[in-house]
Amino acid sequence: MITLIFKAVEKCNSNCIYCGVIKKRQDVIMQFDLLQNILIKINDFLINNHSEEITFTWHGGEVCLLGSEYFQKAIELLDCMYSNKSLPKLV
Ligand code: SF4
Repeated sequence: MITLIFKAVEKCNSNCIYCGVIKKRQDVIMQFDLLQNILIKINDFLINNHSEEITFTWHGGEVCLLGSEYFQKAIELLDCMYSNKSLPKLV
């Protein structure tokens, strides 16, 4: 199984004392054109390197600050790109 971790946002509204996210006050997010380019490269990789499952994980910062619309759009993009039945199952 392959696991992909997208560090999609630096921003965070918490202040945990153990936190290692240095830029948590910056409004940096992974834009959709970057996400789309990454997924195209993953798709190219998967054509030649089959795996049964892929896990996509979003990480931050606080990823909930991206909002539900961001994730809905990301899911739609993933569904569109990986609807081909010959590619691995998404988890
Ligand atoms: S990024 Fe995570 S660990 Fe850091 S302050 Fe936010 S919730 Fe806490």
